[in-house]
Order: sequence, then structure tokens, then C-alpha cells
Amino acid sequence: MLGFEKHDHSHCVQTAIQSAEIFCADKGLRFTPVRRKVLELLLQEHRALGAYDILDRLRDAGFGAQPPVAYRALDFLVSHGFAHKIERLNAFIACAHPGAPHSPAFMICRICDSVAEAQSMSATGAFGDAARHAGFQIERTVVEAEGLCPTCVKQADK
Ligand SMILES: [Zn+2]
Ligand SMILES: [Zn+2]
Ligand SMILES: [Zn+2]
Repeated sequence: MLGFEKHDHSHCVQTAIQSAEIFCADKGLRFTPVRRKVLELLLQEHRALGAYDILDRLRDAGFGAQPPVAYRALDFLVSHGFAHKIERLNAFIACAHPGAPHSPAFMICRICDSVAEAQSMSATGAFGDAARHAGFQIERTVVEAEGLCPTCVKQADK
């Protein structure tokens, strides 16, 4: 699962920034320096960041940013699918497969706060059946599971 296993992370960051660039160019959206920087910050680790962490890091990077600047950049990234909000942590994470329409499901480690994203099938699974039964049309689902990541499971076994 991307986010938990070891991988070439610089490749992760590069690919995500590149696909955001291409997507924005295609749709005529402005990928401003602050939007790019916020996405880079979210991509640095497979971990969710709160808006205030992002603001601090923006300032460290020389962006003299005020809260509305960070919030607007996050809104942009979330509304175009480059990032997701993790309600459980009130924090944001870069999307693991931007560009593809999907219902994300998050696995959140309660010890180290690392987060991995998987696809949820709630619109087609048992929940989807229940919704169809109720005549309810699902537009968006949020699945957040809390538990232990592989690293923390190993640590707990010791
Ligand atoms: Zn990575
Ligand atoms: Zn996603
Ligand atoms: Zn963990």
C-alpha cells in the first residue's frame, strides 16, 4: 500500500507535481507558486498535515502567508482532487492517484499518524446496495479507518 511500504519517494513527489501541472494546463487553471508549494508540502511525507502546520511551513519557505492564503490553496487542491481532507484528523493529505475519479478510503495509524489511501467501493458494495434500496444516490463517501500501520504493528509485537 502506497504510503506504508518503502518506495522511491522522490518519484512520488515528482509524478504528483507533474500531473498537477498537466491537469491545470489542460483545464486552464492557475497552478500558482503557493498552490504548488502547498502540494509539495503535502507530498513530503505520507502523513496528514493540519492547516496551521502548512501555514508554518509556508512561512519557513519564505511565503509570508496569511491563513486565508493557505486555506484558499488547500480549497483549490481539494476541489480539484490533488488533496483530500481527513476529517478524523482535521488535516489534509496529497491524493495518491490524482486525476482519476475515486472515492478515497483512508487507513490512519493511531500511533504514528501515517496515512495510506485506498479506493473505496462503497458505491458498489453492500453500502451501495443499501443506498439503492433506500432510493439514495451517493455522491461522495468518506471512509476513514483507524488502526496500526505495518511498522507500528511490528513495534507492538516486540
Ligand atoms: Zn511516496
Ligand atoms: Zn485520492
Ligand atoms: Zn504507524
